[in-house]
Amino acid sequence: MFARFIRPSNLSKKMMRVIFTIYLSVTCFITSMQFLAEYFKTQDSILTELKQLEETVHKPISTSLWQYNHNQLDALIAGLVKMPIIEGVDIIDKNAKSIISKRAYALTSPPLSIFAITSDLNWTLNEQEIMLGTVILYSSSEVILDRVLFGFSLIAITEIIKLSILFWLFIWAFDRYLASPLKQLMSQVNEVQLSQNINKRINLSNIENNELSQLQEHINNMLSAIEKDRELLLEDEQAKRNWLEDAVVKRTEDLQILNEKLKVLATRDSLTGTLNRGSFFEAAQHLLDLSHRQKSPASFLLLDLDHFKIVNDTYGHYVGDKVLIHFTTTLQKFLRKSDLIGRVGGEEFAIFLSDTGIDDAFLIADKIRKEIGSSILDIEGKTITYTVSLGIVSPESKDHLIQDLFKRADLKLYGAKDKGRDRVEK
Ligand code: GH3
Ligand code: MG
Ligand code: MG
Repeated sequence: MFARFIRPSNLSKKMMRVIFTIYLSVTCFITSMQFLAEYFKTQDSILTELKQLEETVHKPISTSLWQYNHNQLDALIAGLVKMPIIEGVDIIDKNAKSIISKRAYALTSPPLSIFAITSDLNWTLNEQEIMLGTVILYSSSEVILDRVLFGFSLIAITEIIKLSILFWLFIWAFDRYLASPLKQLMSQVNEVQLSQNINKRINLSNIENNELSQLQEHINNMLSAIEKDRELLLEDEQAKRNWLEDAVVKRTEDLQILNEKLKVLATRDSLTGTLNRGSFFEAAQHLLDLSHRQKSPASFLLLDLDHFKIVNDTYGHYVGDKVLIHFTTTLQKFLRKSDLIGRVGGEEFAIFLSDTGIDDAFLIADKIRKEIGSSILDIEGKTITYTVSLGIVSPESKDHLIQDLFKRADLKLYGAKDKGRDRVEK
């Protein structure tokens, strides 16, 4: 408890300690000054009393000395020493020799301070003053303290009562006007910190217009500013997030387009747009497997342009390319979306027709042949005609690989070439 008073942890107790210490020091100082003043005043008054006493006993002592009446002198001195203000009496003859010396205290424990008045003892004879000796009356600090202490005990008691009352009044006042509002402020600041509600503000009860109300206003203003900054930050963050999402979407779309392009580049022939050899064989293998599984009919066509080398040699490669494009565009007209076309050689193409038996395939192939053979192309002012030969096979149960079909269709194609070209062989 005392240690907590010496080193208090909260503000009001700290202020209380300072005020209480200052008040106690000032009170002690003033009371000490009062005590000293009273002490010296009382000493003066005791000296006056000693003087008056001396004047009273001066005559009887002189008479006893003149008459050598020692019994009377002893009785007188004994009477004097018993008086409260007298601590001792000395009678000294004119040769400075002690006649009587009495003390009210034990010689082993004398008072702190002793003071005295001295006066001469005379006898008048035939109008002549005869010196008899000297009388010294002693008093001491203890006599003064006896008188002063009572008064000062009263003062000390009143001071202690006053101090205690003021102490508790101060504590009440500090608690009412400073400590309690500060505690409330601290707890509300804590609540605001922990609260999920961003609009929560400090609202002290019984608040007057003073520094605390201004502090409350400042804190609330600060909270509003923080809230505004937070909203701005959130908006900014949201904008950045939206921008990032848009950028990611855009980038994903770009990548998808790029992937598509790459896929086309990797799987398609750049001149005619048909599947390249590898992709065609891969896709055709899947369709062949499916046809076996589903036991559905299918056909494989191999097409080769007749004497295409002559076209190239006569009109040049540019024209040859245009002929190849015309050829594949014409093919598309006779085929369904599900049918596969692939460029398997320079001027050699393959077609896989699902759900199509060899007879139906022959009809389609012949339509293609006729359409190509009857086409008249005008390329760069040159009139071009060309023909195509086709070999057709349908998968048998032994044809597990697309290459098996390819080999057999190739034989058929050679057959068509052998028989004069511009033909379909099955
Ligand atoms: P056949 O009737 O026996 O098939 O005779 P052909 O001349 O068509 O056969 P050959 O194999 O001797 O010649 C094929 C020619 O196709 C050779 C080549 O110049 C040409 N060729 C191959 N790929 C391309 C191409 O992409 N563009 C062009 N313009 N010509 C090509
Ligand atoms: Mg050819
Ligand atoms: Mg060829």
